[in-house]
Amino acid sequence: MNTRYKDIIGQIYREVKALPADGNVADYIPALANVDPEQFGIAIATIDGEVIGVGDYQSKFSIQSISKVFTLAMVIRHMGDRLWRHVGKEPSGTAFNSLVQLEWENGIPRNPFINAGALVVTDKLMSLYSHPKEAILKFVREAARTDDIYYDKNVAVSELEHGSRNQALGYFMKSFNNIDNDVDSLLDVYCHQCGITMTCEELARSFLFLANHGINPHSGEQILSVSQAKRLNALMLTCGFYDESGEFAFRVGMPGKSGVGGGIVALIPGQLSIAVWSPRLNKYGNSNLGIETLERFTTYSGISIF
Ligand code: GLU
Repeated sequence: MNTRYKDIIGQIYREVKALPADGNVADYIPALANVDPEQFGIAIATIDGEVIGVGDYQSKFSIQSISKVFTLAMVIRHMGDRLWRHVGKEPSGTAFNSLVQLEWENGIPRNPFINAGALVVTDKLMSLYSHPKEAILKFVREAARTDDIYYDKNVAVSELEHGSRNQALGYFMKSFNNIDNDVDSLLDVYCHQCGITMTCEELARSFLFLANHGINPHSGEQILSVSQAKRLNALMLTCGFYDESGEFAFRVGMPGKSGVGGGIVALIPGQLSIAVWSPRLNKYGNSNLGIETLERFTTYSGISIF
């Protein structure tokens, strides 16, 4: 990797770390409330196999909604366009866990990255795989090129115990026949996928297939077709940051996905993937310093998808 990126993320790390602390860690899932808010890491992985990082880039954290990208990839590689009968492709303009649109739109969630849409995707995944939790871990491990990726049971259980809102979404969609499996089993799988812990380095590596036209650059395996990878990136650009997706596209201009654990992964097709972690969130549920970092990254490096 050129030393240019190394210098750029070193500079950004120093600048962003010096900014005033703003925002709070997610506390609606009690197990996430105990995370040290000062942790901060950045990692870049290129499609030619290099990785660089700075700060806490090798510390594990809860990937939360970033997992929705993995499950979506697993489902569309099997179902293709049939999935879009059950979930839309439009930004929602509402919070990630909102119920309001669902009634108007007959139980079809706006997109696969709000919680309702992710529940539909995980429901389809459960119908495709007889051991869905094992299948998800296998997929993520292969994408990240390491077996050292696990579910954090504490986070999964904590989320299950405080998951009334997600339960409501599941049952509500089931009333519209848009959920096939039992809702309790669905929530169990969903809360586990959100409770996967990974490092910035592992996350950056695991998104490289999306930066490489659907092909895992390490194994050469075609995980998604070129068109499916393009579409998944388009969805991340338009819907990857909850109700702040337009602002993120405007300020940063990369397809990406955030999670309430404070992680963000974004990518430049044909080049690289970058992961940032800082647990303090803004009012939309996105990492404050994560967005600052990525905005500076595209500005200082001059790379862009546009
Ligand atoms: N597990 C979280 C939830 O369902 C995911 C939220 C997120 O990262 O957006 O509330």
